[in-house]
Amino acid sequence: MVKSAKDILDSYIEEQGKRKTPERNIVLDVVLAMNGHHSADEICAMMPERYPISRATVFSTLSLFDEAGLVYSHQINGRTLYENAYEVEPHHHYICKGCGRIWNLKSNKITELVAECRTPRFKKLRSSLYIYGLCDVCGARLYRLKKKMEKEKEAKMTREEKRFARIDAELNEAAEWINNENN
Ligand SMILES: [Zn+2]
Ligand SMILES: [Zn+2]
Repeated sequence: MVKSAKDILDSYIEEQGKRKTPERNIVLDVVLAMNGHHSADEICAMMPERYPISRATVFSTLSLFDEAGLVYSHQINGRTLYENAYEVEPHHHYICKGCGRIWNLKSNKITELVAECRTPRFKKLRSSLYIYGLCDVCGARLYRLKKKMEKEKEAKMTREEKRFARIDAELNEAAEWINNENN
């Protein structure tokens, strides 16, 4: 029989000798209902108003869910984003270095490659691949910035603009690799 998310949580809490609390179940309901990848603060904002739960409780509950395998956590541009992991098909991700947005990536090819990879004296559990790059919106921003740079000296650039210029340099370096990939 398939275990419910609540059963997984309960047995993990028991195993850890922790207390069962109604708050954790409320956070679990929110996490199970959410789509995509969200920071702990965004998840706080999704909490039902009729059950006031402290920010600290939401944060600690999310890391408990992470340990219990009920959420996946992703470190992106210095932020932790969570996504529901219960009955979710395994997938990979691509991430924009400019705005930090993250998208799901389903690829049988990658799954097959991982299955084929030899890992001596090691049993594979799951895999997670991140492809970093620049989304179209940030690409357009970079294009405008380049136009601006043609007119102004680099010294006048803001810190954020310099960050984007660095991403552009990385993109140029990666161009060769990407071309190989597409061939
Ligand atoms: Zn972007
Ligand atoms: Zn995902």
